[in-house]
Amino acid sequence: MELEDFELIYKENRWECKDKKKIEDKLRKIVGENNVSSKTIDLLAYTKDAALIGMNWTIQGTIAAKPDFIIWPDTIEQISDILKLSNQEKIPVTPYGEGSGVVGGAVPIYGGIIIDMKKFNKILEINDKNLTVTAQTGINGMNLERTLNSKGYTAGHIPQSIYISSLGGWISHRAAGQFSTKYGKIEDIVLGMEVVLPQGEIIDFKTIPRASTGPQLDKLFIGGEGTLGIITKATLKIWPFPEKRTLISYAFNSMEDSFEAIRQILRENIYPAVIRIYDHFETMRHFPDIENAKDKVMVIFVCEGNKKLVDLEESITREKSEKNSGIDCGEHPVEHWFETRFRVTETSAMPPYKIVFDTIEVASLWENAANIYHSVLESFKKLQGVIMITAHISHFYPNGVGIYFSFGGTPSKEETDFEYYQKCWNTVIKATLDAGGSIAHHHGIGINRSHWMEGEWGDGLNTLKEIKKLLDPNNILNPGKIYIDTWKGGEN
Ligand SMILES: Cc1cc2nc3c(=O)[nH]c(=O)nc-3n(C[C@H](O)[C@H](O)[C@H](O)COP(=O)(O)OP(=O)(O)OC[C@H]3O[C@@H](n4cnc5c(N)ncnc54)[C@H](O)[C@@H]3O)c2cc1C
Repeated sequence: MELEDFELIYKENRWECKDKKKIEDKLRKIVGENNVSSKTIDLLAYTKDAALIGMNWTIQGTIAAKPDFIIWPDTIEQISDILKLSNQEKIPVTPYGEGSGVVGGAVPIYGGIIIDMKKFNKILEINDKNLTVTAQTGINGMNLERTLNSKGYTAGHIPQSIYISSLGGWISHRAAGQFSTKYGKIEDIVLGMEVVLPQGEIIDFKTIPRASTGPQLDKLFIGGEGTLGIITKATLKIWPFPEKRTLISYAFNSMEDSFEAIRQILRENIYPAVIRIYDHFETMRHFPDIENAKDKVMVIFVCEGNKKLVDLEESITREKSEKNSGIDCGEHPVEHWFETRFRVTETSAMPPYKIVFDTIEVASLWENAANIYHSVLESFKKLQGVIMITAHISHFYPNGVGIYFSFGGTPSKEETDFEYYQKCWNTVIKATLDAGGSIAHHHGIGINRSHWMEGEWGDGLNTLKEIKKLLDPNNILNPGKIYIDTWKGGEN
């Protein structure tokens, strides 16, 4: 079967490759004979990312998009040369980490070249004095963390997708890990970066704990989603592997009580590494055997680090929890979370039954958090075909939270899975914006949220578009992501 035989979801304004052999020869000259492919079997592997609607499409025999070439460079000069060629020939280019993004960021919607970063997989330096690790950005997340662990360190960035995602993908989507309340999100962890700009220039930003040297240009690429540059190397903060870990759990009467307990803990400048609130529905699903949590809201905490600090964190966590209706549920719920925290089997069980399932994470200040949670649930329940809408909260700040909704439903006979999927997304996002929240906490914008960016940024979005035009006048680098922008590339 050829790729042409699959129906495409994104088929508008595709790049037309008039002379495939010419382009392929030029690419081979840059990256070497064996590092370019236009074989169907390879192209097929890069037609989607991990957005869950992709499974429904696969079952229906459709594919999201169709790249023309996959290349595997292994030097920064090669990446620079590829981007120069792409500008000359006006070819869209999509950087690709491990394809675990869930918003379509790495989907080549206009075709063209996929730059797979997997050969950029080396750890270049672990520096004990500075407490830093420098690595190439195609490195697999778990390979990085395991190497650090074996030498007595952690980077503290453990997303649920750590086995299937790369350092470059984390930076590009502004990822957040499960231990983020203590160690920070990726933007708190990255200290330095090397980036290839869309026209091929290379910037090696200095690694420094802080500097007062004008605006922080490097931050522009954190969350750039591969539209403003390709990140080839990054230096991250690391920490000595924690000396002590304490597992705590409490069941609360309501979401409001659990919010209040955690708000009060963080207000004391106390940062348990992991905090997770499960609403009543998720508590029932994940902890059915915990008697004290029946009909309640389960919260788990992991405090880790220096023993004396952990003991202090534990005592304040317990004090604030008990003051806000918390009932101690012991260590078992947290051990259960540790055992199951990378398991997502239920998501692939749904599409064969024509169920549309997905997750959406949004962000909020404390003052709007409870309202957003309830508004999203209420709005969503009004949709036809709803099977479930639940939430957990797993990222916290002294000022607010990231709320993670999971939903499932079945489309009517008149609508496609994709139309229903978009309706579900629009419902959650609209309710969030109306209640004062932000449309994305850590999965990024990609394609899924691009039409909401004006609602999120207002006129500020024009400035981002101007920056993009300046850096990428031919719009070759990951066009159509972050905001709606149609490929208008030229001839080749
Ligand atoms: C089961 C599951 C669990 C998940 N859990 C989490 C979680 O806990 N926390 C979280 O934050 N996310 C999570 N995600 C989402 C996803 O893993 C993250 O968005 C991750 O950061 C993507 O990394 P990747 O290497 O797979 O990137 P890809 O999907 O390959 O790419 C993502 C974006 O980054 C760009 N990109 C990739 N590499 C580079 C580079 N070197 N330079 C420039 N641009 C680049 C791509 O063009 C694309 O726009 C989860 C996803 C799944 C499927």
